[in-house]
Amino acid sequence: MADIAIRNLVKTYPGTSEPATDNVSLDIADGEFMVLLGPSGCGKTTLLRMIAGLELPDSGSIAIGGRDVTYLPAHRRNLSMVFQSYAVFPHRTVRANIAFGLRMRKRPKAEIAEKVERVADMLRLTPYLDRYPAQLSGGQRQRVAVARAIAVDADVLLMDEPLSNLDALLRLDFRAELKRIVQDLGTTTVYVTHDQVEALSLSDRVAVMREGRIVQLGTPIEVYDSPADQFVGGFLGSPPMNFLTGTVSADGSEFRVRDQRVAVPGYLRAYSGRQVVLGVRAETIQVADTPTPGAVAADVVVVEPLGASVLLTVQLGDQELKVQAPPTFRTTPGSVVWLVLDPAAMRFYDPETTLALTTEDVVPA
Ligand code: ATP
Repeated sequence: MADIAIRNLVKTYPGTSEPATDNVSLDIADGEFMVLLGPSGCGKTTLLRMIAGLELPDSGSIAIGGRDVTYLPAHRRNLSMVFQSYAVFPHRTVRANIAFGLRMRKRPKAEIAEKVERVADMLRLTPYLDRYPAQLSGGQRQRVAVARAIAVDADVLLMDEPLSNLDALLRLDFRAELKRIVQDLGTTTVYVTHDQVEALSLSDRVAVMREGRIVQLGTPIEVYDSPADQFVGGFLGSPPMNFLTGTVSADGSEFRVRDQRVAVPGYLRAYSGRQVVLGVRAETIQVADTPTPGAVAADVVVVEPLGASVLLTVQLGDQELKVQAPPTFRTTPGSVVWLVLDPAAMRFYDPETTLALTTEDVVPA
């Protein structure tokens, strides 16, 4: 079992005032693919390096498979790492690169040869085994780095932005490949990225980080559909979640922006007469070019045909929002469109704290 239990990790680098990780606790299940996601500087690499043993925390603990490894050196944690830069040895062949960890662990020659063949096959590197890294493409080099990491049967696989040096098409390709390989291996994996699409596509669960803290932990669908605060909603998704500031009507049945009214879920009665922020994803909004019952009118500002959809930027009062229309939808800037918002897809946020308003906030009238 290689579950990871992280408890209250605090790490402040010398000479800095803010902690890089600020009391982080996280449980990662055996075999789980956990992604640490967040903007640059949020502390995700620091957290990964502490799991790896490349950085020591000021306080807190890390256990892997029930064993406290907080102060154990990296080489005694039985984990392997893949970094952003192709950390392959340039003066060794692909075969020697993949065999490296096994040779360090003094495995028998026959076992090493068999393992190298098998891993090379998994990563489609068999034709290149006798080449040197300089004779490979960037994508192939990164596959060598992954092959070397998985060859050793580590308890935990740690990856820090392993796809970020690849061009967009290769990245897409390798992403799916990586997912398949890690699925087949079933190794507990912690993966750092600032790319939200990568996080959603690869992970079993995502820990969204900000300023040294985990602000939300959940499955990709949970964090995408129900962001815990406006930061998460704005960070995940392309386009990001729309946020509209408005007022809940006195009877709690409507959300109002200027003269436009939208029917809202019943729990908003607790916020009657108060200002709230409506969060709504572009693809959950239905758009029509003629008035429909319950629809709100909006002015079209920008029309972007994207092939699979048409992305509209529309104005509602003085606020803009993005709407994803079907690919056949035709409109022009300056036109009026009618939007139908699905109450089940609406999320509401406190304008001051930016935190999600949930049904738990409902106080009896
Ligand atoms: P990125 O995606 O840019 O790598 P990150 O989310 O991985 O960012 P970290 O690298 O963990 O963030 O950095 C967290 C904070 O700690 C940042 O404010 C960073 O400037 C600081 N930091 C990181 N490494 C060091 C160091 N060796 N010395 C001092 N400060 C550091």
